[in-house]
Amino acid sequence: MKRLLEVEGLTTNFHIGVGCVQAVRGVSFHLDAGESLGIVGESGSGKSVTMMSIMGLLPDYAQVSADAIRFDGADMLHLSAGEFRRIRGDGIGMIFQDPMTSLNPLYTVEDQITEPLRIHKNMKRREARQAALELLRRVEIPNPEARLKQYPHELSGGMRQRVMIAAAIACTPKLVIADEPTTALDVTIQAQVLELLQHLKSESNSSIIMITHDLGVIASMCSRILVMYGGIICEQGTVREIFYEPKHPYTWGLLRSIPKMSQERMGKLIPITGTPPDMLRPPKGCPFAPRCPHAMPVCRAYLAPETALSETHRCACHLLHPNAPKIERGL
Ligand code: SF4
Repeated sequence: MKRLLEVEGLTTNFHIGVGCVQAVRGVSFHLDAGESLGIVGESGSGKSVTMMSIMGLLPDYAQVSADAIRFDGADMLHLSAGEFRRIRGDGIGMIFQDPMTSLNPLYTVEDQITEPLRIHKNMKRREARQAALELLRRVEIPNPEARLKQYPHELSGGMRQRVMIAAAIACTPKLVIADEPTTALDVTIQAQVLELLQHLKSESNSSIIMITHDLGVIASMCSRILVMYGGIICEQGTVREIFYEPKHPYTWGLLRSIPKMSQERMGKLIPITGTPPDMLRPPKGCPFAPRCPHAMPVCRAYLAPETALSETHRCACHLLHPNAPKIERGL
């Protein structure tokens, strides 16, 4: 399988008045062509910052470094500004959480969808307009001719998200990054948007990175999962490995907090107690140690190395050391 994206040792710090927020701390992962990868974790775990770092979309006070970032064979760390812009517009499309703040309120739907086509595909206005109409049909927006002339505030939340998807896929990117694409939508529209993304993916065979805190969305959309906590990847594996053979106590906690319909669990949600770490002063050892019921002295002193459990399954937890106590996963 061809590697589309490879990231090695990505670190992102934000220098703010009171100190340095260590948002992403040495993250490495890859994505194959045509694959759907889910990145899951609580707010502040570093999942969105990881992707914004790769896309070069962070403010000036962010300091991004990495051993390597390669996209479709290109070394992203040593591209000129123009080449980087081309990849960002042409090779990677991004769908953000809140279309109301991501779409420009001063421009019509037509302007927003045709802009990438005119810049990256050199289309003339009429040709770009025709392509925009076709894109609106693909994302199943009724009466597309009328919608082209409208502004974002004249559309419903679901329509706005469809317009953003149309703009993101306008240049048929090889990779679509969807950052919490359904969080701002009600459940019926959520299902429609997920179905649409799946349909578009199978149509164009593009790869998808889905960033979310919702494991249900991941299960329906992705084949592989990265679990992030405190700026690191604490576990990664196929959907089957993460859902049926999870090894990290944080992943156990995430799975326990999913609502279930079974009789004995009905109405009983088990939250992960405690709060996420302060990334201005992240713990020296495992970032999950202050909340982990199985924490040992070594956990507070050292970050656990990654253990390979299969070709696809890796986990960073001291419980995987051969001399560690054997802990059964709680329900
Ligand atoms: Fe818990 Fe220690 Fe594993 Fe961290 S390394 S998740 S504190 S057992």
